[in-house]
Amino acid sequence: MPHIQQLAPHVADLIAAGEVVERPASVVKELVENSLDAGATTVIVEIQHGGMSLIRVTDNGFGIAPEELPTAFLRHATSKLRSAVDLAEIGTLGFRGEALAAISAVSRMEVFSRCSGAELGASLCLDGGVPGRVETAGCPEGTTFVVRNLFYNTPARLKFLKSDSAEASAVAGMLQQIALSHPEVSIQYIRDGKEELHTPGDSKLLSAIYATRGRDFAMNLIPVDGAGEKVQVHGFVTDPLACRGVRNAQAFFCCGRMIKSKLLSDALESAYANRLMKGKFPGCVLHVNVPLDQVDVNVHPAKTVVRFASEAAVASAVRHVVSDALDKKEMPKQETRPVAAVVTQREDFYQRMDAKTFREQGAVRQPGQAQRRGAGPELSGRITFHDVVKPDLREDVPKPQSGFTVRTVEAKREEKAGFAGAGIVETVGEQTAIEEAVYTPWRYAGEVLRTYIVAEDGDDVWLIDKHAAHERMNFDRFKANAEPIMSQPLVAPVGVDLQPEQYGILLENLPLLEEFGFEAEDFGTGCLMVRAIPSEIDIGLVRETLEMLADKLVSGGADPGSARDAMLHTLACKAAIKGGWKSDPAELKAIIEKVQRGEVQFCPHGRPVKVKLTKYEIEKMFKRA
Ligand code: ADP
Ligand code: MG
Repeated sequence: MPHIQQLAPHVADLIAAGEVVERPASVVKELVENSLDAGATTVIVEIQHGGMSLIRVTDNGFGIAPEELPTAFLRHATSKLRSAVDLAEIGTLGFRGEALAAISAVSRMEVFSRCSGAELGASLCLDGGVPGRVETAGCPEGTTFVVRNLFYNTPARLKFLKSDSAEASAVAGMLQQIALSHPEVSIQYIRDGKEELHTPGDSKLLSAIYATRGRDFAMNLIPVDGAGEKVQVHGFVTDPLACRGVRNAQAFFCCGRMIKSKLLSDALESAYANRLMKGKFPGCVLHVNVPLDQVDVNVHPAKTVVRFASEAAVASAVRHVVSDALDKKEMPKQETRPVAAVVTQREDFYQRMDAKTFREQGAVRQPGQAQRRGAGPELSGRITFHDVVKPDLREDVPKPQSGFTVRTVEAKREEKAGFAGAGIVETVGEQTAIEEAVYTPWRYAGEVLRTYIVAEDGDDVWLIDKHAAHERMNFDRFKANAEPIMSQPLVAPVGVDLQPEQYGILLENLPLLEEFGFEAEDFGTGCLMVRAIPSEIDIGLVRETLEMLADKLVSGGADPGSARDAMLHTLACKAAIKGGWKSDPAELKAIIEKVQRGEVQFCPHGRPVKVKLTKYEIEKMFKRA
């Protein structure tokens, strides 16, 4: 067991400075890393009230000698580093000698420790960093740190903490990462008396993945094992068919240390190029090991950023090793789902609507049905589901959009109208006249790349992004609250394993979920049991939808308005037909109608839904003009 000593100032000065104790999760990270550095094979983390009232970390590591207990809490006191030369090859997780000093300064702290083979242990209490006396204590071999009343003396920092459940989820997320970085150590996490995580510590990475990420994730992995120049890469990556719409399932580790790395994330994703649908991202648990002198961990105080001596070699090794592993699997086919699965239980309007049906169902109002302008509710300019299938319930009469030919015609000429439903009805004295928008519907010419609808509009050709357009239509429909979101109960409830932060935020928002058609309940240990889902959403998209929503809620903060918007966006997106999916021409024609009306201009993220190619532009390309 190496002795703890304070670093000489010139060595201390070489260490990346900065605060590491921001929230309970960062305290847990530092304490558990100390346990791992002490050779522990089991670590138990208990917290109460999100870690604000209590954090206790117990390990079976080699312990701290009684006479060195006070030293451990001094700034720049460490047993892991002696000289500047050591900084070049750091094999331990800690080396800054600052964590215990920093944590004890902002809490009431206690430590109990007994060294391996010693008869007795010792304890020490500190209040705001001020140590009491070292006392003899009967305790098991190993070390226990207790942190109470975190930030009690720094109210400013207390203010920045989130809810108990959000902090507890952040702790869980941190411990998952640590468990994945050290599968040979059993990590147990007990939150408010309830066990939330317990990894077996059997040295098998897949066991740790199963325990932390859940069955769904663990069952869809491809093993990766290989090497490049001075780089060894092993772990697991997601099957391209199981990739998600979010990036947060990527975990990288270097020499037993969890790291954040855009370099590695890009390298991983480049290995999936052409194997994935756009907007999907691979997940991974990848250990990237290099000789200690090939990596600088002294870059950032939280030690999660590293610098590789040869970035290109590391990136190339990751790309090739992952790519080889994917090659071994069959190239995935393009994702398709039958049209029947695209449409919803409620029979969205396009399921039955094309221009012809639209006309036949009497959307053209007879003169006798004409209403006085202003008699009904505000003109909305929107044709809703009700307008289309139940013309008798129509109250609002959409305005013709600019850009269309508008002229006044007599009622009896209604047959000529392309979409005569878009007329404005006016009563002038005794005589009823219909000012009608008359225009020729764009001709559906087909679909290309399973994503873009091609429509012909006289001399112009329009390309319409079917997903973007449909997403917008859904968004407007949900936002206008024209129809409540209906819920469909599931025959068998579905368990959805989530990452801790996602799990935490969704638990906090269960009432909001319910409002939008999701019935879910806490099933413990990161799992939500879903009993009903919005009827707009395909059952196969439940996990994706919840994950996407959780990520939006996490990034959107606590504002209830933004939570509702996040919900609307997510549902609109997930209920929309997707690029890459096969679509029924009737659906596409219905989308063309909406776009032609000008009701759909931009997707909810602001991207355009249509682009125009004029005849002149096309002729120019062919050198005809
Ligand atoms: P660092 O980990 O950077 O050395 P810390 O402030 O985290 O600095 O810890 C100071 C020292 O206390 C460590 O170097 C180590 O010797 C000792 N120590 C801390 N936690 C433990 C533990 N759980 N078991 C054994 N020794 C520990
Ligand atoms: Mg440490």
